[in-house]
Amino acid sequence: MGLDDQPAELAGLGPIPAEQARALALGGTWRRIVTDPVTGTVLDVGRTRYRPPAALAEHVLARDQVCAGPGCSVPGHRCDLDHTTEYHGTPANRSPLPGTTSAGNLGPLSSRCHRLKTDGGFTLRQVTPGVFEWHTPAGLTYRVTPGQNGHTRKLDTHHHAIPDNPPF
Ligand SMILES: [Zn+2]
Repeated sequence: MGLDDQPAELAGLGPIPAEQARALALGGTWRRIVTDPVTGTVLDVGRTRYRPPAALAEHVLARDQVCAGPGCSVPGHRCDLDHTTEYHGTPANRSPLPGTTSAGNLGPLSSRCHRLKTDGGFTLRQVTPGVFEWHTPAGLTYRVTPGQNGHTRKLDTHHHAIPDNPPF
């Protein structure tokens, strides 16, 4: 950007002179990569690639530990790493945009829970990284925190009126 003449860091090579960096940048393709400021772990590679880099996959599995499905306890390492909002095609959860390959859009899903999402009419959102909200075809909402042993909580949906004559 020509802001100063400090050396630039070329990944895998080390510092290079500013003039050389500017020449490289002119002919290059820019990719945004977000890293954790403390650990340096890659958290977000945007839409540059579908498959998460190994460090990002490890980060998500360390965070979530078990399947992100409601009430499911399949260990994360036996799950698929699912893009919460689909990377390809039209998102089923009515997101206006396709999903990214990022910590906030990846979570482990067992094959059973993956099918609920793909074919079962369930929709899934990741409210914040590591917190998953499922909407069932029956109109129920469950919030799952797989990093807390798959803790699952049913949310009030306000969609269903309380029956006048409860069955008890
Ligand atoms: Zn599952």
